[in-house]
Amino acid sequence: MTSTTTQPRSIGHFIGGEALNGSTAEPISRRAPGTDEVVSLIAPGSKEDVDLAVRSARRAFDTGTWPNATGMEKFKVLTRVAELIERDAEKLARLDAEETGKTIATAEGDIAGSAGLWRYAASLALNVQGKTFTNNGPDFTGLVLREPIGVVGLIIPWNFPALILSQKLPFALAAGCTAVIKPATVTSSTAWEIVRLCAEAGVPEGVVNLVVGNAGSAVAAHPDIDLVSFTGSTATGEKVVQASAGNMKKLSLELGGKAATIVYADADLEDAAEGVVFGVNFNNGACCVSQPRLLVQDSIADEFLAEIVRKTESLKVGQPLDRSSEVGALIHAEHLGDVSSFIENAPGHGGVVVTGGERLQGGEYGNGQFIRPAIINNVGPDAPAFQQEIFGPVLTVTRFKTQEEAVSLANGVDYGLANTVWSKNSDTLLTTARALRSGTVYANTSIDGIPQMPFGGYKASGVGREMGEAGFEEFTELKSISIRTGKRAGKFLLPRPVTGVS
Ligand code: NAD
Repeated sequence: MTSTTTQPRSIGHFIGGEALNGSTAEPISRRAPGTDEVVSLIAPGSKEDVDLAVRSARRAFDTGTWPNATGMEKFKVLTRVAELIERDAEKLARLDAEETGKTIATAEGDIAGSAGLWRYAASLALNVQGKTFTNNGPDFTGLVLREPIGVVGLIIPWNFPALILSQKLPFALAAGCTAVIKPATVTSSTAWEIVRLCAEAGVPEGVVNLVVGNAGSAVAAHPDIDLVSFTGSTATGEKVVQASAGNMKKLSLELGGKAATIVYADADLEDAAEGVVFGVNFNNGACCVSQPRLLVQDSIADEFLAEIVRKTESLKVGQPLDRSSEVGALIHAEHLGDVSSFIENAPGHGGVVVTGGERLQGGEYGNGQFIRPAIINNVGPDAPAFQQEIFGPVLTVTRFKTQEEAVSLANGVDYGLANTVWSKNSDTLLTTARALRSGTVYANTSIDGIPQMPFGGYKASGVGREMGEAGFEEFTELKSISIRTGKRAGKFLLPRPVTGVS
């Protein structure tokens, strides 16, 4: 099935348990990247809409119904949301594929992964723990409590609309926070659906609010938001940092990436070739942990390159909703232009385009934003294609001789989100993984993992972690309570060893 929805969907805000259209200004039209048909009309969003949503979230937090719900109550509601996501999986996957241009198979994986994240986060609501200190004499007890941080702003990028929302929202809810969500304007539909599923599952009114349209900067700057969890580009992340200074809100930033895949001569080359082609073309290359830089050991480089060219040329580029498609459409025309310019400019930096890069139009591609996956050989570490995030199906190939050289090339970019290493020698595998400066390393696999493992970036790729216990803890504050029992009797405690006095 390749046709998109016939009637455009209207997407508005969801504030205090009510669906609202916001201002009367013209909605923003979203055209499907695969067909160029208008599929969604999105309310523009304003500072006033954000104010309303924050007031709703603040009221819900202060009245305490959700923060004070027991762990078991939260567990049941969050688990119910997971069940409802699974019930509506077909619809949610179709919406995500239609708006992002990703293939339907990828979108289905995202929705299944989203349900898994809600289930895992639900389990964390049962385990909110602190610490107790009994080591300062019999009359002193120290309690360290973990409490919800308050009202959180969740800003979502376009490339995984349901999945990244699910990396944040259920963790915030498990901690007892209330939320204002701001999805990427061009891909707002699944956030709209998931917010309604929250209401159906029993999340109380005002706990989860949604503002669509161009409202990200108002969320980042809002004085009554306690934490902003942002996923997006490093350039926008910098603006979020500046905007957040007004009330010193806590930030969690998941930013850009430029991962390398190191393939040693002793790797399982069949597996590695499969992993490299998957790693750069998954989600049309629009993935923060995409693997766009291949670093291959000199002695096997020619045969390995021939194999990945063969595999890349056999990929089926097609309509996102067509089940046989392996690579879909790019998010919009401007992005297609940006991706193409890296390919066009490659020869000026010594690169050789060995396959792909052509725009695909007409026939099944119609007016969609399609490009054939490209490989650029001989790319040096100073080339823009080696240093900058391309966010499309474009692989650069660079050769190395030694392990030291491979690690230095991999680490020689501003980003530090993820890297990959392939070797059958366990010493080489582990020493390389340990030397890579990134929050995630895939070893003999590519774009893999489980929600229990924390995810986040070194260097310009971000601050803080998502998922795992560390991701949950981002949504909490610690409170230390020092308790004296018995009679204090005006004792002047100093110079006993006292900490926390400065
Ligand atoms: P983007 O930075 O353009 O937008 C992200 C979100 O920020 C959108 O909702 C947007 O509306 C909002 N926004 C725009 N201006 C804002 C402002 N001034 N203040 C606050 N919010 C604002 O990113 P994108 O194009 O949607 O997504 C692609 C980028 O996201 C890539 O760089 C990719 O690497 C990154 N990303 C990172 C991760 C990760 O986990 N590290 C995951 C996915 C995507």
